[in-house]
Amino acid sequence: MPLLDLSEILRRTEEIAREVVAPSAEAVDREGRWPEANLRALQQAGLGGLVIPRESGGLGQGLFALARVCETLGRVCGSTAMCFGMHHVGSAVLAAKATADQKERYLIPINEGRHLTTLALSEPGTGSQFYIPQTRLAEISSDLFQVSGVKSFVTNGGHADSYVISTVAASPNAPPGQFSCVVLPGQAPGMIWQESWKGVGMRGNASRTVEMKNVEVPRRDLLGNEGEEIWYLFTVIAPHFLMAMAGTYIGIAAAALEEIKAHLTRRRQAHSGATLGQQTLIQHRFGALWAEVERTRRLIYHAASQGDAGSADVLPALCSAKAEVADCAVHVANEAMTLAGGIAYREGSILQRCLRDARAAHVMAPTTDNLRIWVGRALLGQPLLGD
Ligand SMILES: Cc1cc2nc3c(=O)[nH]c(=O)nc-3n(C[C@H](O)[C@H](O)[C@H](O)COP(=O)(O)OP(=O)(O)OC[C@H]3O[C@@H](n4cnc5c(N)ncnc54)[C@H](O)[C@@H]3O)c2cc1C
Repeated sequence: MPLLDLSEILRRTEEIAREVVAPSAEAVDREGRWPEANLRALQQAGLGGLVIPRESGGLGQGLFALARVCETLGRVCGSTAMCFGMHHVGSAVLAAKATADQKERYLIPINEGRHLTTLALSEPGTGSQFYIPQTRLAEISSDLFQVSGVKSFVTNGGHADSYVISTVAASPNAPPGQFSCVVLPGQAPGMIWQESWKGVGMRGNASRTVEMKNVEVPRRDLLGNEGEEIWYLFTVIAPHFLMAMAGTYIGIAAAALEEIKAHLTRRRQAHSGATLGQQTLIQHRFGALWAEVERTRRLIYHAASQGDAGSADVLPALCSAKAEVADCAVHVANEAMTLAGGIAYREGSILQRCLRDARAAHVMAPTTDNLRIWVGRALLGQPLLGD
């Protein structure tokens, strides 16, 4: 693959966002359609291996690039941004400790745009406490394991070529709380997908539930070593997930801001001849919304850059970025709807889609409450995973 720098990566993303993703965004939302054509276009543009290291043939980009790519897509279609973002989170986990065999079977096809992956941590039982899986990994022989359990809200569910999942560690001697990551092929026998996704927002996301009944996993598909899931969680999953989601939702907030700006400039009242944008109160409110988006974006970029630089103290910034963007995206989209008046309240308006998509930010784990608690604990020197 040709090595692309960040400006070329963003140029290609913007082009696809404008020419492929934007024209289909309304239909993806209305029909609850998984945005396959959008994802294929991004893969074909050479962006599939965005966060895979260069030594493994990827683009070698980090958190900042991930946030920017998701932001660019989120400005036109939240579902596409999330689907592509979750592919990169899964890719980062696959790449972190990939064996030569895993590089061959997963990373090369991802880099070549032939393989889409995703991350499945959440379960119906433990919900937002996604770091306590109940899915079991049973050792059948020295070379073979079986996975049994249920994963819920799996983005790209039923469409991905592979699923990166968390399981309780196989060894009966494993200490409580120790678990493992494995990768399952998309069509593994024993994976039973439940009904299609019908969300309030993020309707193209295919966030489905899958039951796994004795799904066979060869040892070569164990990621890292047994019991390393906590390492994966904080070193790989959390930073990539938080920045993919922060990028997606700041994109949605920016879309709401652009939409309301266009409306305020356009909408002219018959009795005075003035636009809404000429009203002092509206100028004040629009200015405050712009500042909210801008300061949240700066926090996200700062957190991502610090993460890429390997800063040891980055966790509060990464967690706060996603907590702040959830507040920002919901508030900005909600306020923009008020400023736009009745026109935005109509079915099919961009602003109502922004608001519905933004709403998922608070409940996507780590939830906003959870993130705030982690920030407090990290800053106060308390253990992160307490009660
Ligand atoms: C659009 C969408 C896409 C998703 N994609 C993925 C994906 O790709 N992969 C994946 O693994 N998951 C995904 N999820 C799942 C998501 O990350 C959460 O795990 C899931 O939404 C949690 O739902 P729940 O109803 O079980 O929440 P619950 O755990 O029941 O939580 C409900 C509320 O209670 C709060 N709460 C929970 N425990 C406590 C406590 N002890 N004290 C105080 N408050 C608490 C939570 O913060 C939350 O506000 C997705 C979810 C959505 C909506």
